[in-house]
Amino acid sequence: MRLSYSALDSFQNCSLKYKFQNIDKIKEPKSKEAVFGTLIHSTMKFIHNPALLAPKMEDALDFFSKNWNSDVFEDELEERSAFSMGVAMIQQYYKKNVISDYNIIDLESRFAIEITDPKNGTGHIISGIIDRIDKTEDGYEIIDYKTTKKMPSQDKVDNDLQLSVYLNAFLARYPKEAANLDKVTVSLYYLKHNVKLSSTRSLEQLNTAKQLFLDVIAEIEKGIFVPNVTPLCDWCGFQKICPMWKHKFKDERKIDSEEINAVIGDYINLKSAIASTKTQFAQLQEKITKYMEQEGVERVFSDEGIIAQTLRKTYKYDEKQLREILEPLDKWESILKVDGIALKNIMSVLSPGIRQDVERARVLDKESKSLTIKKK
Ligand code: SF4
Repeated sequence: MRLSYSALDSFQNCSLKYKFQNIDKIKEPKSKEAVFGTLIHSTMKFIHNPALLAPKMEDALDFFSKNWNSDVFEDELEERSAFSMGVAMIQQYYKKNVISDYNIIDLESRFAIEITDPKNGTGHIISGIIDRIDKTEDGYEIIDYKTTKKMPSQDKVDNDLQLSVYLNAFLARYPKEAANLDKVTVSLYYLKHNVKLSSTRSLEQLNTAKQLFLDVIAEIEKGIFVPNVTPLCDWCGFQKICPMWKHKFKDERKIDSEEINAVIGDYINLKSAIASTKTQFAQLQEKITKYMEQEGVERVFSDEGIIAQTLRKTYKYDEKQLREILEPLDKWESILKVDGIALKNIMSVLSPGIRQDVERARVLDKESKSLTIKKK
C-alpha cells in the first residue's frame, strides 16, 4: 500500500475522514483553518528560504498579507481575528528567532520510504513532506510547524509517530546519522504559543514506529471506517457529509426538520429536568434521614404515604484471605478478571512497545447505543 503520512494521520484521528479522502476520493473543501495553516507554512518557508537574504519581519508580514485569502471566512469579524492571529504568530516568531542564525539544509522536503512487513515480506510506501531540516552545531534538527491551539504534553512529543516517521525518512537519506541519533533532534514548533517542543528517538522507538505504521495498514485493510469527533473536526472539510455533523447543516440542505427540532429540544430539556429532580430527590432524602435519626424512628407518615428506612449492606472480600483459600484449590486464577480502570492506570507507566502490545490485545466486548447531550 502507498500512503502519505497525512493519510495515516487522518486514519488515526478519524478513519471516516480517511475513507472520504482516500477511498471515496471526495475532494475536501478547504476549511478556513486549513487555508490559514497552509499560508502560515508558506510564510515560514519564505522566512527561511536559503536563496533569499534573511527577510525582515516587515517582509514576512507583507508576504503573509499579500497571500491572504478572504473568501473562506464567514464574516469580517472572523476574518479579522484570523488575520491578527497570523500577524501575531509572525511577530512572536521574529522576537524569539534570529533568522540568519539557522543553517537550513532543506525546506518542505518530500520523502517516500519503504517499510517492509517482516511477517509476509510485503513492502509499503509512506510519503510526506518535512517542513524543515536544519544542520545544528553537532547534528541535525527536524522541525514540523503546527498552527493548532492545543499543545501536547512532552510525553506525547516523545512518542509522536509523525516525528518518528520523519526521522526514519531522514535516516533513509542520511543513513550514517543512525549512529548519532542522540544528536538528531525532532521538534514540533507550536506557532500560536511560540513554543518548540523537542525530543530525540532511539533505534527501538524508530522500529516501534515502523511496526505501528504496519499496524495502521492492517487496520485500514480491515475496511472499518467510523467517525471520531475531536477538536480536529473544526479542520475537517467533510462536516456536511459526516453523520456526526451533517444534521447541523439541515437548513442549508433544506430538510424539513421542524418536528425533529422540537423532539430534540424536548429531549434536552427533559434530561436537564431529570438531573435537577435527582438533585432535589437526594436533598429530600438527606432531610428525611436526618429527621428519622433525630426522632429515633424507622418510618415516617404523612397524608401522601409512609416512608420506611431500610438498611442495605454490600460486602467486599478481603483479597489476601480469599487468595489463601482459593489458590490451593487452583481456583484463584479463574476469578481474576481484567479491570479496565486498573489497566488504564498502569498503561501510563508501561513502555510504548508494551502499550502497543496491550492495545493489540483489545477486542470488542459489547456494543450498545446511548444518547449524550452537549448543551450549546
Ligand atoms: S467531521 Fe470529524 S468525525 Fe466527521 S469525518 Fe471529519 S474528522 Fe471525522
